[in-house]
Amino acid sequence: NRRFVLAERPKGEPDDNTLRLETGDVPTPGAGQMLLRNEYLSLDPYMRGRMSDAPSYAPPVELGEVMVGGTVAEVVRSDVKGFEAGDWVVAFGGWQDYALSDGKGVINLGKNPENPSWALGVLGMPGLTAWAGLTQIGAPKAGETLVVAAASGPVGATVGQIGKILGCRVVGIAGGPEKCAHVVDTLGFDACIDYKAAGFPEALKDAVPDGIDIYFENVGGAVFDAVLPLLNTRARVPVCGLISQYNATSLPEGPDRLNLLLGAILRKRMTFRGFIVFDDFGHLYPEFAREMSAWVKDGRVRYREDVISGLEQAPSAFVGLLRGEAFGKRVVRLSD
Ligand code: NDP
Repeated sequence: NRRFVLAERPKGEPDDNTLRLETGDVPTPGAGQMLLRNEYLSLDPYMRGRMSDAPSYAPPVELGEVMVGGTVAEVVRSDVKGFEAGDWVVAFGGWQDYALSDGKGVINLGKNPENPSWALGVLGMPGLTAWAGLTQIGAPKAGETLVVAAASGPVGATVGQIGKILGCRVVGIAGGPEKCAHVVDTLGFDACIDYKAAGFPEALKDAVPDGIDIYFENVGGAVFDAVLPLLNTRARVPVCGLISQYNATSLPEGPDRLNLLLGAILRKRMTFRGFIVFDDFGHLYPEFAREMSAWVKDGRVRYREDVISGLEQAPSAFVGLLRGEAFGKRVVRLSD
């Protein structure tokens, strides 16, 4: 059983000393437990927060503990009601080959699920994040303009496609021409603006002639600076993530713009609301699952995966995810 444990809390970007690969015996399940063989490990931006002991909504991973992570696994042996050998499950098995579970919070996908790894993306946590953040906080109405950042990633791609289904004009923001082309040509957004290209703020302004009614915030930083002046009166801003800041070790340089933001919120009567998906919207999972699986099945919501082979690649693949190297939902396939 190979497993990555947290060896050191990173300062800035995680490096070779952050995680340590250990090898040990496959654990033996006790009474009321099952043994899971992890097949797919999800890599997600929130993992950077768990490596840190700064105050957060969830406790950090302790030094020496297995790095946390969502997994799709096969049940090897089970003493848990409702699960038997050969079942596929979505669990929180962590960065390791095998995990023990008591079945709490584990979803059974059955014996032969189609695309089991999708349960870590569009049909799982990132999908619920997109669906709930947009519908519950963004409250989109047909004809409104929705802008979404990190538009080719699992959350952003899903937000924009739901926005189109609900009748919005949807503009994505992504890094580079290849991702932008995918967002428009395959995902069906009305436009996608490359935030790495020169003249980004002007290009964004031109793409939203009626201003922005909903901005789904995934990134923060310079992208938000360009969005703020374009927000309309009574705009809604689901604050989902700030990935541009996750490796930051200090506040950005430059004039203090806090009162600019507060003044804009006041004058334009805007709503900014942060959320943590399972804490705030976990109870909506059944409704989400019904709606999203129908959309995925009939092709109205498309999904792209970025599959990395081998557990030993997980640390570098995670650093790459934070740098913007993933194209689609990044998962690690553990078996060879
Ligand atoms: P993504 O795959 O979209 O995240 C990686 C992407 O972030 C990169 O591909 C890159 O896009 C973008 N990015 C990285 N650095 C920057 C930067 N400096 N400026 C702009 N964009 C940057 O991940 P997810 O879809 O899983 O998550 C999206 C966001 O949602 C994250 O912030 C995440 O933390 C948050 N989240 C929040 C949840 C909640 O409960 N609140 C739950 C799940 C996710 P590009 O290549 O286009 O530059």
